[in-house]
Amino acid sequence: MSSMFSSTIAAVSTPRGRGGVAVIRVSGDDAVNICDKFVSASKPLCEFVPRRATLCRITDKSGDTLDEALVTVFRAPYSYTGEDVVEISAHGGETLCREILSRAFECGAVAATAGEFTRRAFSAGKLSLTEAEAVIGVIDAKSRAALTLSRKNLDGTLSAETDKIYKKLVGIVGSVYAGIDFPDEDLATLGADEMAKKTDDVVADLIKLRDSYKVGHAVCEGVPTVICGKPNTGKSTLLNLLCGSERAIVDDTAGTTRDVVSENVVLGDVSLYLSDTAGIRKTADKVEKIGVSRSISELEKCELALAVFDASRPFDEEDADVISALKAAKDRGACVICVLNKCDLEKKFDEKRLADLDNIIRISAIDGSAKKIVADKINELLVGGDVANSADAVVTNARQHASVCRALDFCLSARDALGKFGTDIAGSELERAMSELSELDGRGVGLDVVSEIFSKFCVGK
Ligand code: GDP
Repeated sequence: MSSMFSSTIAAVSTPRGRGGVAVIRVSGDDAVNICDKFVSASKPLCEFVPRRATLCRITDKSGDTLDEALVTVFRAPYSYTGEDVVEISAHGGETLCREILSRAFECGAVAATAGEFTRRAFSAGKLSLTEAEAVIGVIDAKSRAALTLSRKNLDGTLSAETDKIYKKLVGIVGSVYAGIDFPDEDLATLGADEMAKKTDDVVADLIKLRDSYKVGHAVCEGVPTVICGKPNTGKSTLLNLLCGSERAIVDDTAGTTRDVVSENVVLGDVSLYLSDTAGIRKTADKVEKIGVSRSISELEKCELALAVFDASRPFDEEDADVISALKAAKDRGACVICVLNKCDLEKKFDEKRLADLDNIIRISAIDGSAKKIVADKINELLVGGDVANSADAVVTNARQHASVCRALDFCLSARDALGKFGTDIAGSELERAMSELSELDGRGVGLDVVSEIFSKFCVGK
């Protein structure tokens, strides 16, 4: 079976550096011929039983042994890429890998670009686009929950859901056009009422899929989160608690944190891009002023704010300024959690002042057990249910989410058009929804979108 790509590509598929084993992968029509020139065994590679590992010698130009390695031949279409593939599992040394790869290049292979193996798998129809994206998800997963969601999508959960919705749309559009194209035939066309019902059903499916992104985003992509509050409330202490390390300087001098300190943290199922910011207050100090304006701008773009208040001090003007900045964040859709800190000390803070903001938790950030209280609240708000055991399809990235939203918009517009203009116009809106879904799973996607997606891969994948 001949590949649609003319070149045979090669790359090291394991990470760079020292390790027990490294895998060099060669894929394309010439993979077996090329490797035959530097892989030596009792018989030529073309006679190897496919998918069975054989211990071989890997030789340099003059026939000297570079390494002994396990070599496996996969025959098209039964390989990762759908092409002929040879995988060489050699010892994991950088120089050795470079030498073996050079041999592959000398014998006719070209260097694979980032994600090219998976791109070939997509082109060969082995993976849908959402499944290919799930490959990146599996590799990049920072938590067990992220791995579970990506794994499910790699197994086709999202593709199957998209396909189910697409087929429903084909059914509706098909019977509308049957009526238009063959008005004299007695075909089973849909009446407006029936079409409305079926469109509503698709709308419900798409809303569910759209809303699943809240969880997919929090678990797989990560949520930009800011720790804010007036100076000395314990923001840096909270950052260190959540990171599990002394990431930021903690001191009882107000205004210690002057720049934004960022860290990637996984709490339960949720992944956070956490930024500790300078305390929000009016200040004459030039450098601190810059810090405060950075804090405000982080707060303006965050999706989650952990607002820290000092329970041991009375509410004051500075807290009031923080609350009005938080209200603005909440109004534009950010999630706000009020962290009433230093609860180990005598309480002087009037909690009623936080009445306009929900989600209050009470902790002492110097106590390690507070981490769970913060993590539980964040998970309750951003994930809610049981990620691992849900069978539902989950949208896990912004591209997929945008496609679902556009498909939903077209379906809603079809629903609207149905009442105003009848089934024909509604049908054409549903067709546009279908093309959005095609883009989602890659059936009808443009080359630029495909290139963008695969550019996120590493070389060798
Ligand atoms: P930031 O300016 O808001 O970042 O505050 P820091 O994290 O630097 O903390 C200011 C001071 O409060 C430090 O001396 C911390 O040790 C102390 N602190 C922070 N959290 C707590 C807490 O929960 N209880 C008590 N008693 N002190 C705390």
